Amino acid sequence: MVGRFIPSVTPPEGQGGPARWFIFSGYKLLVRMKNGMLDIPVLQDGPRDLGLEAVRLHFLGSRDGEACYSAEVPEDADPPPGMLFSGLRSLFDSLDSAFYRLAVVAVQVVDWDRTHQFCGRCGEKTRYKEGERAKECPRCGLTSFPRISPAVIVAVERGEKLLMARANRFPTAFYSVLAGFVEPGETLEEAVAREVKEEVGIELANISYFGSQPWPFPDSLMIGFTAQYAGGEICIDEAEIVDAGWFGADELPTLPGKISIARRLIDWFVEKQQKVD
Ligand SMILES: [Zn+2]
Repeated sequence: MVGRFIPSVTPPEGQGGPARWFIFSGYKLLVRMKNGMLDIPVLQDGPRDLGLEAVRLHFLGSRDGEACYSAEVPEDADPPPGMLFSGLRSLFDSLDSAFYRLAVVAVQVVDWDRTHQFCGRCGEKTRYKEGERAKECPRCGLTSFPRISPAVIVAVERGEKLLMARANRFPTAFYSVLAGFVEPGETLEEAVAREVKEEVGIELANISYFGSQPWPFPDSLMIGFTAQYAGGEICIDEAEIVDAGWFGADELPTLPGKISIARRLIDWFVEKQQKVD
């Protein structure tokens, strides 16, 4: 959890001294090895302490009174001695969970800033809006906020079985619960019903909220649901799905990693079945 993190765009008065720095090269975060653990560097004067030149930087807020900043350095920047640039997926297991959540905040701010350098309406160079996490166009006034793309993900139960599919976008051969982006004008529940109908031809009932997870690859918010089978037979959309089926808790295929809410939904199903048995 972000926990005691207080987000802000304005450093407190008299701010200075050591701060926690989330430094990105592309989408990779700079981490240091400390006592066998990975850690986020604390720096007195930002990236230049490490001989790195920041392209852009942001005050993110404070955690337990410690100021937290993000910075972007060039993609060809070399990591300082004893440090490395690492993708966020691979850091999930090795970085303290509070720092991991802050890294998720940081990468989304960095990516938004990098991709909103110019106005999307008139092409003018944008500038930061004072006191807000926003960028504005000095010519036409268009304001851009960090982009968050909602996606739904759903565990569909049919009796003691769970609907799982292998999407062709998955890099490895694992099965997961179905997910998809919310379309403009849709409710979340409509998005759940549409995605499942489109991808595997199944109708749903009792679509209920489960939980959510920021998913910074690059800017999603995954919104999890549970639902019950209400009709139809599996008929896969071959453009998106390689295979789909109903799986009992004791016959699950290869599963997604612990990082994802997909896995939380599958674990929820398994625990529920174990209580029934
Ligand atoms: Zn403009």
